[in-house]
Amino acid sequence: MLAVHLENHRVALKRVPRPRAPQGFALIRLLCGGICNTDLELQRGYYGFSGIPGHEFVGEVVEAANRELIGRRVVGEINLDCGCCDWCRKGLGRHCPKRTVLGIVKHPGAFREFLTLPERNLHMVPDSIPTEQAVFVEPLAAAAEILDQVTIPCSSPVAVLGDGKLGLLIAQVLDAHGYRVHEFGRHKENLRIAARAGVETEIARDHLPAAEYDWVVDATGSPKGLADAVHIARPRATIIMKSTVHGLAGFDTAPIIVNEITLVGSRCGRFEPALELLKTGLINVTDMISEQMPLDRAPEAFRKAAKSGVLKVLLK
Ligand SMILES: [Zn+2]
Ligand SMILES: [Zn+2]
Repeated sequence: MLAVHLENHRVALKRVPRPRAPQGFALIRLLCGGICNTDLELQRGYYGFSGIPGHEFVGEVVEAANRELIGRRVVGEINLDCGCCDWCRKGLGRHCPKRTVLGIVKHPGAFREFLTLPERNLHMVPDSIPTEQAVFVEPLAAAAEILDQVTIPCSSPVAVLGDGKLGLLIAQVLDAHGYRVHEFGRHKENLRIAARAGVETEIARDHLPAAEYDWVVDATGSPKGLADAVHIARPRATIIMKSTVHGLAGFDTAPIIVNEITLVGSRCGRFEPALELLKTGLINVTDMISEQMPLDRAPEAFRKAAKSGVLKVLLK
């Protein structure tokens, strides 16, 4: 079968044997995969990754011990946890120290014709959600994770920095929960998607307002994003850090201490609220699809996804 292979900053196609599902795992046929910034960062050298990338997917279950899953469309949680440590027992397998991560850490990813994942990681996709929307469940769960981590007072203003894929999802999720979202970005076309959802948007070149927000989300995906977030934050503000960048954020940390700012790191989230959000139709993901390509054009798809202003590129 066909698989995408990432090595030494290069994306290539390979013929590999169809994987065999170990006990407790399902064999899944890929229907659609989404290229995420993390995949592009892996290509740049994040985690020293080599292998099959891909962690955003919708698939159809081909083999599983649970007969109910067979033939169903599923999305899958990307962290493969041990199931028995303290973290796993608390329902926080996303922090299991023994975990592997689909397409990121020691588990081959989803950009291949067939993949495997533990059956307990799978969530069935309701018929009302088309495959091209369901592929956004994983990043949408990451966006909604913010609301699991911090309690933002009702209808508070929240600044979202960044108008890439994750920034647009975060802005829409916060807007759907009634917050007054102000999104700062660089791409008029992208910001228009958030604006249509009711988000106040602004093209921010270099002049961000100083000390204005109690709640700030950095989703710029840029090493400079955190410094900008600190600049825009009021004393005692909370900054939610959503950018995973390969490299170091070198900047003056004194304002964080002087202004007593709380930094909150934020990564993956639960799939249930993300599926619920998609069901409501309040999150516009369709306009975020820039391009759809077959799996065998993955090298071109990665090049396309890395271009400035390009949103989601899907592999099918
Ligand atoms: Zn991702
Ligand atoms: Zn564990």
